[in-house]
Amino acid sequence: MEFLPVFLNIKGRKCVVVGGGDIATRKAGMLVEAGGIVDIITGHKAEKFSEFGQHEQITLIEQAFNADHLKGAVLAVAATDDPVVNRTVSELANNLEIPINVVDQPDLCSFIMPSIVDRSPVLIAIPARMGELATLLGSYRLQVSQEIPEFSERVSFWERLLDSEVPEMVYSGNTTKAQEHIEAALSQKSTGPTTGEVYLVGAGPGDPDLLTLRALRLMYKADVVLYDRLVSAEILKRVRPDAEKIHVGKARADHTIKQETINEMLVRLAKDGKKVLRLKGGDPFIFGRGGEELETLAKEEIQFQVVPGITAASGCAAYAGIPLTHRDFAQSVLFLTGQLKDGSVDLNWESLVISQQTLVFYMGSLGLQFICEKLVAHGMDSDMPIAVVQQGTTRDQKVLVSTLAELPEAALQNPIKPPTIIIVGRVVKLKEKLAWFES
Ligand code: SAH
Repeated sequence: MEFLPVFLNIKGRKCVVVGGGDIATRKAGMLVEAGGIVDIITGHKAEKFSEFGQHEQITLIEQAFNADHLKGAVLAVAATDDPVVNRTVSELANNLEIPINVVDQPDLCSFIMPSIVDRSPVLIAIPARMGELATLLGSYRLQVSQEIPEFSERVSFWERLLDSEVPEMVYSGNTTKAQEHIEAALSQKSTGPTTGEVYLVGAGPGDPDLLTLRALRLMYKADVVLYDRLVSAEILKRVRPDAEKIHVGKARADHTIKQETINEMLVRLAKDGKKVLRLKGGDPFIFGRGGEELETLAKEEIQFQVVPGITAASGCAAYAGIPLTHRDFAQSVLFLTGQLKDGSVDLNWESLVISQQTLVFYMGSLGLQFICEKLVAHGMDSDMPIAVVQQGTTRDQKVLVSTLAELPEAALQNPIKPPTIIIVGRVVKLKEKLAWFES
């Protein structure tokens, strides 16, 4: 064993990061997440750190690095692009017996920070020769970082290499051939820009365990992510840590970013050669405007993939114990929008009031009372069961069950927290027997 694997408790302890670029930013972010109190020595004002704003665990020190900066530190990271500074930090830290990590220079490190796999469900298969592959790639690390200084280009170089036949060559014992391939790839590194692509991915209703394997794979491949308000923090955590994350969510009354702007952003980023993840709550094609985004991409001849997600109706119904088409009570189910516009919901109410059918309303929390009244006015039994599922499939899920006549009053007693989905039909009664998820 070259290194002893340990987990360090740095809560409330001083850590020092020297450097002001992307990598320093990420390392500082990891230290903060582990509870460290981080001094960042940037040498000059670093734009990158604006995302930390006034973070209470971080102090930005815009000075050239000197030995005093290490005083009292339990850990140091050097991530500058100046090999002399990196070496100095390493030497001083070693003298003070402070564990030191120098990015991409293992010989200057007294500890390394391994990649973290913090997702589920994950299947990791480790071929017997994987260590050999790592050693081989590691031997090119310095050369690659010198020849491809830009971090994101370097990441995509390694990714292309890992997607190529190089790993298979090593696993089958043909290391010489793998070396030839790597060297050829290095000498051609600048042959044209890589082409971008857009992944339109449904992230499901909230519980990260409801992500598909394909969604997870693409979430880990993307360079940049445009995500909606409905995509939970738990899900975002599963996106590749160094991917740029852009919130383009639209709250009901707060259309921060227009649909056209999102369409344009997708096109621009893909044309810049980025792998763009468009992450949406539920399923992208169900009340998700995914179709409109794709039309723009198709027009601009940008490659895309669409990954379906579990839509809120299925996810919430399953977690609430409401089988949407139990054969004794419903032979059809309708997904509808209950969005209130100018005080009313524009639907063909007559056609909705038929027996043996379940209705599921998306975006209906404001129009709840209106929906109940309209259904009764058009002949639905006023004792028809109705369920309002709030923040379905998440730990905060709540289900309010009532009848069309009584729900508006019940909703007043139990304030409703969006997002919510409304299920109307006899199947709601089955919840008493079938609910399994605490809510
Ligand atoms: N594309 C999404 C729907 C987007 S419209 C999908 O397929 O699920 C947004 C509406 O979805 C919300 O107003 C709400 O009605 C519903 N919704 C999404 N996530 C939900 C959740 N976790 N719990 C309850 N309703 C949800």
